[in-house]
Amino acid sequence: LVRLEQVTKRFGDNTVLDHLDFSVDAGKHVTLIGPSGSGKTTILRLLMTLTKPDEGTITVDGERLFPASEKQCREVRKKIGMVFQQFNLFPNMTVLRNLTEAPVTVLGLSKDEAEERARELLDLVGLADKCDVRPTQLSGGQQQRVAIARALAMRPKVLLLDEVTSALDPELVAGVLDLLRDIARSTDITMLCVTHEMNFARDISDQVLMFDSGRILEAGPPEKIFGDPEQERTREFISAVL
Ligand code: ATP
Repeated sequence: LVRLEQVTKRFGDNTVLDHLDFSVDAGKHVTLIGPSGSGKTTILRLLMTLTKPDEGTITVDGERLFPASEKQCREVRKKIGMVFQQFNLFPNMTVLRNLTEAPVTVLGLSKDEAEERARELLDLVGLADKCDVRPTQLSGGQQQRVAIARALAMRPKVLLLDEVTSALDPELVAGVLDLLRDIARSTDITMLCVTHEMNFARDISDQVLMFDSGRILEAGPPEKIFGDPEQERTREFISAVL
């Protein structure tokens, strides 16, 4: 469903991704792990079209995301949802409006349809009673649940999760991870996660990609990567973060 071929990304003379190839099949959950600065977030930002590669091609659901025309890019982009470390909710809108805004303006849903879907999703994330409050009145964990619901409101085929629990107080982390485990189990959505939560990665991943300096050092099922990695570098990284 998602394919990167020979993708290179540079910031000045810093080559952040170096002729990277990988693909994710529909419905699979892939986790990106690796040291800080190894290029994991950059991959999600490329897929979200927040930045462009210098070389290579990116395809999503059989359609070109890069290189592509602006119009084509916008269309493909609708298939992708992202949840950020810092929630990035619209602070001046109610929780309900945060969930209905893009479905109405981007997908063209009627207000009623969008609200019905938004209420179902807020129920799913355990916040049905918070429709009318502003995000700032919620805890970090609750805000992140709203952000997850907002991403799902667009019915994306691919969900990108960028260290979604890193900004949360420790006691709020488990609840958000449990919600994501539920979503991974109960939907057919394709997931790409950047995370430092190794237990979570082990639970939800079909495949784990270990990054180092803009390359995939090692890839495999979680049992292999966490239990018996081939590379010494992977072993060191995992024992340092566990
Ligand atoms: P972390 O776990 O710390 O988020 P990461 O593996 O996700 O790390 P990236 O955020 O993808 O790494 O960053 C990879 C490299 O690209 C880093 O060296 C970073 O400094 C650089 N970089 C990222 N964004 C920019 C930018 N907008 N301008 C310049 N350099 C950037």
